Amino acid sequence: MMNDELAVLRKKLDDVNLDLLALINERGKLVQEIGKVKEKQGTKRFDPVRERDMLNVIADNNQGPFQDGTLQHLFKEIFKASLELQEDDMHKALLVSRQRKPENTVIKIKNTSIGNGVPQFIFGPCSVESYQQTAKVAASLQEKGLNLLRGGAYKPRTSPYDFQGLGEEGLRILKKIADTYDLAVISEIVAPEDMEKAADYLDVIQIGARNMQNFELLKAAGDVRKPILLKRGMSSTISEFIHAAEYISSRGNNDIILCERGIRTFENATRNTLDITAVPILKQETHLPVMVDVTHSTGRRDLLLPAAKAALAIGADGIMAEVHPDPAVALSDAAQQMDLGRFDAFYRDLTSHSSYASRVPAE
Ligand code: PEP
Ligand code: MN
Repeated sequence: MMNDELAVLRKKLDDVNLDLLALINERGKLVQEIGKVKEKQGTKRFDPVRERDMLNVIADNNQGPFQDGTLQHLFKEIFKASLELQEDDMHKALLVSRQRKPENTVIKIKNTSIGNGVPQFIFGPCSVESYQQTAKVAASLQEKGLNLLRGGAYKPRTSPYDFQGLGEEGLRILKKIADTYDLAVISEIVAPEDMEKAADYLDVIQIGARNMQNFELLKAAGDVRKPILLKRGMSSTISEFIHAAEYISSRGNNDIILCERGIRTFENATRNTLDITAVPILKQETHLPVMVDVTHSTGRRDLLLPAAKAALAIGADGIMAEVHPDPAVALSDAAQQMDLGRFDAFYRDLTSHSSYASRVPAE
């Protein structure tokens, strides 16, 4: 008896659900039509006054048992879903998203490409200190058949009393080295007004972790026609990182390399915490190449090799690491740069490891 009663009530509930379903979709169709009219008129889709009126009418006509607030909350959800329906899906998907462009972006840099599946390397000193100092690293790269040299000319330092970099002189040194050793050079730019000038000296412009949300700098990077290496902010979420890349892309520069360089956590055994799973997440969510900076993420020489192996194994498009001919006297990041001997061993061990070897086509 009791069960019959329940079955009848449930049947009624099922019918009401179907009525609600039909009504919500009917409402959705009306909203889509309204969206088209608004688009023609050029009016905004979201109209807070109209929403307020609708919520008031709902409260005024409510006969219970639900309270006004509960119903307004439910209707607000329906309104939100309706607004989303009005937005064209293509329009919503970010330019840097895989949804927008399923195939990988491959970036050509002088004699090299990043993003085509074969891992690439960016090595060089933390700071360009002199021609000689940088040239020693360049020679070591050339010897290994490597193509990409890094070196900071404008250094964003925690203390204003620390070495700030050689500025434009540093860029000039890099250009000379690029020409002499047939390398592509990469350096960080920190001011929007330096972006165009930098493009004359550099093959890739780096935006550092501290500037990942410097939106004017991102816009300036979007206006130059040079590949940009964008580092993840040390306290930035993956979504914020992707949106920073979108700033660059939205201005027409689609040659963007993302670089995971560790984030701040409670852990202090390493300089930062390498967020290794950011790599496959970024690869899934965007079509951009993703590199891992093992120097700034770990801050420890003993971890450079295992971190680099892990990065390649998990799908990174390349590795960045700092190399200095005499790290003990380096003007920045003295504790974590590799000297040339360590660099040789690092490069030999990494490229003979399966994480690298398995991704390089057989000769
Ligand atoms: C750098 O690569 O020189 C640098 C300063 O790194 P980050 O911006 O990741 O700290
Ligand atoms: Mn450094």
